[in-house]
Amino acid sequence: MTLAGDDATWSARFWTGNDEPAWAESVRVASPEFRICWNNDLRPAPHPTASQVRTVSSWGDATQAFIARTRVLVVGVGSVGLDVAQRLAATGIETIGVMDFDTVEALNLDRMIGATRLDAALHRRKTDVAVRLMESAATADNFTAVVHDLKITEPDGLRSALEYDIIFSCVDRPWPRAVLNQIAYADLIPVIDGGVAIVTFDDGRLRSSIWRAHTLVPGRPCMVCNGQLDLAQVRLDQNGHLDDPAYIARSGKESPSSQNVAALSAGASAALLAQFVSLLAHPGGLGAPGPLRFFLSTHHLEHVPASSGKYCPYEAETARADERHNLATAEGTKAQRGDSTTTPPAPGLEEAARLEQALAEAINGLS
Ligand SMILES: [Zn+2]
Repeated sequence: MTLAGDDATWSARFWTGNDEPAWAESVRVASPEFRICWNNDLRPAPHPTASQVRTVSSWGDATQAFIARTRVLVVGVGSVGLDVAQRLAATGIETIGVMDFDTVEALNLDRMIGATRLDAALHRRKTDVAVRLMESAATADNFTAVVHDLKITEPDGLRSALEYDIIFSCVDRPWPRAVLNQIAYADLIPVIDGGVAIVTFDDGRLRSSIWRAHTLVPGRPCMVCNGQLDLAQVRLDQNGHLDDPAYIARSGKESPSSQNVAALSAGASAALLAQFVSLLAHPGGLGAPGPLRFFLSTHHLEHVPASSGKYCPYEAETARADERHNLATAEGTKAQRGDSTTTPPAPGLEEAARLEQALAEAINGLS
């Protein structure tokens, strides 16, 4: 690796024999002031498009060229992830991956903005909906959506995730969150995590809502150290106990909460996206903040007083990907996948889907 004197840009190359070296496309500098040094020959900076004038005037050509080339993966495209994916595409990012194996159901429609009744009736994959919405929103000339119909807890899912520069964690299960927590440190890929929780009174009325956002990167505490990942819950999830109502009842533990309100999940996606902008654009010269949480009842935003634990097993694996304690296993391939029953769609639905596809192609073809 070489550090250029003029603009402090890293370049890297490696030799596999006596031939010419292979040049690295980019070098990531993983810290709260995250940087990527691009090899402009291998991955040239895109020219800003007419749709990006206001974006570029907000942070300049150099930042746009940096952000647009960054490969971003969104793991989980439910209420928060779907919103995040669309806004990343509109910002001009050229390559966005989405990872989810779930399908759209009618009960998702109160919070997955952009998913339609037709999507639910056809049980379309959430990733297909995400791709359609990202392609509609994208402002880059060469936008590429990559679908990973995988779980981050399976070896293929983990391998796919390692191809990205930044990952959004928009999943709420402990096991996938543990895998993402590990990637942030062992593989030096920043992970932006967070979500929204609803708190109710015993009589069912709304007591408060709390949304959190934090960037997991060396120099900032991991999910365990900031109190957002319970190692005991990870073990229960790996053993399938969190889906076992009898076990939950016997143990007195709480099953994962499923409450969600579309009007509030936008707060969580905004908080995650603000972390993304701080990590990449360094507003005011500052990088990613420490963990944040917002209380809806009092409208109070606070910095969570968390720091890295001295013996944290995740942060102890920083930059030691090859020696990782493997959390993505064959069991993760099967776990939590429902039985997919494929019933053919009603004839009217097929016709509606054909018309929808034709309309989308016509709109995307407009210059
Ligand atoms: Zn930690």
